[in-house]
Amino acid sequence: MKKLYIKTYGCQMNVYDSARMADLLAPLGYVPVDEAESADMVILNTCHIREKATEKVYSELGKLKHLKSRRAEAETPMLLAVAGCVAQAEGAEILARQPAVDMVVGPQSYHRLPEMIARIARGASVALETDFPTEEKFDRLPEEQATDGPAAFVTVQEGCDKFCTFCVVPYTRGAEFSRPVEQIAGEVTRLSKKGVREITLLGQNVNAYRGEGPDGKEWGLGQLIRRLALIKGVERLRYTTSHPRDMDDDLIAAHGDVAKLMPFLHLPVQSGSDRVLKEMNRGHSREDYLKIVERVRVARPDIALSSDFIVGFPGESDADFEATLALVREVNYAQAFSFKYSARPGTPAAAAARQIPDAVKTERLYALQALLNRQNQAFNQSCEGRVFDVLFEKPGRKPGQAVGRSPYLQPVHVNDASALLGEIVQVKIAAALPNSLKGVLAPAARLQQRAAAH
Ligand code: SAM
Ligand code: SF4
Repeated sequence: MKKLYIKTYGCQMNVYDSARMADLLAPLGYVPVDEAESADMVILNTCHIREKATEKVYSELGKLKHLKSRRAEAETPMLLAVAGCVAQAEGAEILARQPAVDMVVGPQSYHRLPEMIARIARGASVALETDFPTEEKFDRLPEEQATDGPAAFVTVQEGCDKFCTFCVVPYTRGAEFSRPVEQIAGEVTRLSKKGVREITLLGQNVNAYRGEGPDGKEWGLGQLIRRLALIKGVERLRYTTSHPRDMDDDLIAAHGDVAKLMPFLHLPVQSGSDRVLKEMNRGHSREDYLKIVERVRVARPDIALSSDFIVGFPGESDADFEATLALVREVNYAQAFSFKYSARPGTPAAAAARQIPDAVKTERLYALQALLNRQNQAFNQSCEGRVFDVLFEKPGRKPGQAVGRSPYLQPVHVNDASALLGEIVQVKIAAALPNSLKGVLAPAARLQQRAAAH
């Protein structure tokens, strides 16, 4: 048995990739562990989206270099690999900057890890794989998948052809690619047989999904969702991250007629200013976005919305920023992520004139986050007294407590519920805490609990 430690940075697609790397290395005898200290192999699965994310990787590599030399002295050598988007973007530069690294593998080539390990074992000093053979990867990943609780991610689409002027993704993840419908259905069926009840479909632009259907035609995300909703055992479906340009009629309709599709939509807008949206090359206006929100709300009146925002994009004026605040007030989000613009080498916006000073970005970020936090708190408070279906995912900190997710992705803590892990149970929301909800089992759930105990 060998020990494998994977540290994951960034998005949920990296979380999925890390799990698949562990699946891939399991037949070689690698067993996942929670810390690097005793590991035989350490993989950093990295994120390149903002400068800070990249810096974190190099500082972690600095620490691991010392661990690796201690391990070599003790004659218990450790392999060190860098995977993910920093690996893709910086490639051989990583090996030059941190010679302790043995392997660099991009997000589209990690199925080659076993042969890279073999190359090192045969005496190669380093191994580097940063090609874009997407199809090959999904065909070569093992069917056997380890699960971690009743909720799982499944990547259905990768890459991006949108080229927003601030973003590295089209360069690190390559062109848009969609997996065939039945390949995905197979994976979801296998997961459901292992007790998975909730599937989140992942893609850099998940609603740009155009996969080959069983009829040989191209299927969109709405059709894929309808197909997956037929799979027994899967009770909840979600998808992320979607782009406003790809919210087509069928997908919007699916929100109204597929009961398993959860009433929560992450739909990043980035800015509320038409001028900035144009400079960002988002391909939609503020009005287009608001119309989509309205249509989704008509299809599914109880839907809650989430978004991503960037403040301090080059040239963003006070008026542009005010337009973002006004859009937030108009939409009223349940939750959202917001970031200071980070200039990424090689992207068009990084070379633009009128970069915004960091102090202005900070001030705008605080103002935006204050508004978003107020909306988030108001949304959570509006849940008090309601009864939600909660999927219990893991034990809580207190004995007997379980933590689950509401349909709106909020963590819900419930006492005396540990017998119900893996189940979807009715919970009455008693209180909204700053980052989660506190609930009690609804009467019907108590019966279910008694049945589970017998
Ligand atoms: N495909 C998604 C979309 O179009 O909205 C976003 C994917 S990206 C991995 C996640 C978020 O990171 C983006 O929505 C954006 O808000 C943020 N982001 C991307 N590039 C950024 C940059 N250069 N600076 C700051 N935030 C950035
Ligand atoms: Fe990046 Fe834009 Fe593609 Fe999203 S749509 S991944 S923000 S380039």
